Amino acid sequence: MSSTADDLIKRIDGISKKDADLVRQAYDFAKDVHKGTARYSGEPYFNHVFETAKTIADFGMSPKTVIAGLLHDSIEDEGASKDEIRERFGEETLFLVNGVTKLGKIRFRGAERHVGSLQKLFLATSQDIRVVIIKLADRLHNMKTLSYIPEEKQKRIAMETMEVYAPIAHRLGMGRITGELQDLAFPYVDHMNYEKVKALAEPKRREKNYSLAKIHKILIKELKKEKIHNVVTDYRLKHLYSIYEKLKRKDFDIDRIYDISALRILVPTVSDCYRVLGVVHSLWRPLPGRIKDYIAVPQPNGYQSIHTTI
Ligand code: MN
Repeated sequence: MSSTADDLIKRIDGISKKDADLVRQAYDFAKDVHKGTARYSGEPYFNHVFETAKTIADFGMSPKTVIAGLLHDSIEDEGASKDEIRERFGEETLFLVNGVTKLGKIRFRGAERHVGSLQKLFLATSQDIRVVIIKLADRLHNMKTLSYIPEEKQKRIAMETMEVYAPIAHRLGMGRITGELQDLAFPYVDHMNYEKVKALAEPKRREKNYSLAKIHKILIKELKKEKIHNVVTDYRLKHLYSIYEKLKRKDFDIDRIYDISALRILVPTVSDCYRVLGVVHSLWRPLPGRIKDYIAVPQPNGYQSIHTTI
């Protein structure tokens, strides 16, 4: 795994030379400030802030937000000087780092009736949505390395992730990170059901992965023929925790879950969306009653797309 400043810079779309230099400076600053500090895993602490910054860049955030990601633990954990951060990286970056530090003090204690107010407190304290994004990226890496944390802390952190962080990511319309956070927390929060769902879903997921690749190929060819251009596609397998939530409503019958695998087609205009739907339905027979038009009727978090099952 490479972790140079340039590996980070090339992930930030359209970055100016001046900002790239600033990212390089923040990289060196963070490396220096965390020198000699290790994570529970034994790896250098710097790896954590680097991975956090990378995730922020992949979310498509600005250079300043990525820089704040590199610096997010420098005041709290290493006592870096606020004045120095302001001088070298500007008032805005200092504001973001301070915001992340403040958020770190909000703790989930396991009283479930407070969960809703905790989410609200979290969003209110952050003041700026970028602070929340940094915190989500920070939490994602902490969850990926949760197995190294002392056992008595694991469950609290996983519960907090499930009850506070994942729902906030969902509210922001960040579906992929919602699923990732839930899947990382799942085995710690409810080990028995995690194992149960894994055993049910894994064979299905493997089989679906194969047919999806085939369908994808056919579809791309057909869209070209129909002159639908600038198409971006990807496919995903449903996250384990999301399968679990559905299984609970379907008597744990895996064959009643139709969206274990999904193909996503992104096109430039709304009318293209409906044309793609037409192409899909002419190639494969749709399942009756499973077409959902979230373009005409958006979901509460603003999500818009068309779903169909074939
Ligand atoms: Mn951190």
